[in-house]
Amino acid sequence: MSQPIYDDENIFAKILRGEIPCNKVDECDHTLSFHDIQPQAPVHVLVIPKGPYVNMTDFSEKAPPEAQAAYIAALGRVAKMVGVAEDGYRLIANTGTNGHQDVPHLHVHIMGGQPLGRMMPSAH
Ligand code: 5GP
Repeated sequence: MSQPIYDDENIFAKILRGEIPCNKVDECDHTLSFHDIQPQAPVHVLVIPKGPYVNMTDFSEKAPPEAQAAYIAALGRVAKMVGVAEDGYRLIANTGTNGHQDVPHLHVHIMGGQPLGRMMPSAH
């Protein structure tokens, strides 16, 4: 299935262009990481690629290998930086309609700082 067209006016594109502020945690040539504006855990950080990718499917198909490697490296680096690596954390990449993705620019949530329970509350 083809990916949706990237929308330059999404909120994370505006953050990347510096049009709206963010509370930055980390930045490299390929990624930007910042605190979620409505944290759902004591630690809740978003890691985004600087390139225009709608979601992980889009990113994995189109991003150059160095951008993909940098993105994975950023996830691990930022988890350590925000202090959740030792006790554990959760990575979430909501994708598309069924994944309930609100912002159409790839982002992985890093959440931690307390026990997070089962992944899906209704799952056995
Ligand atoms: P999604 O539902 O797309 O996986 O998550 C989008 C996330 O982006 C939400 O957790 C929401 O709180 C966060 N968010 C939306 N707008 C902003 C913003 O302007 N700044 C920051 N830092 N986070 C935002």
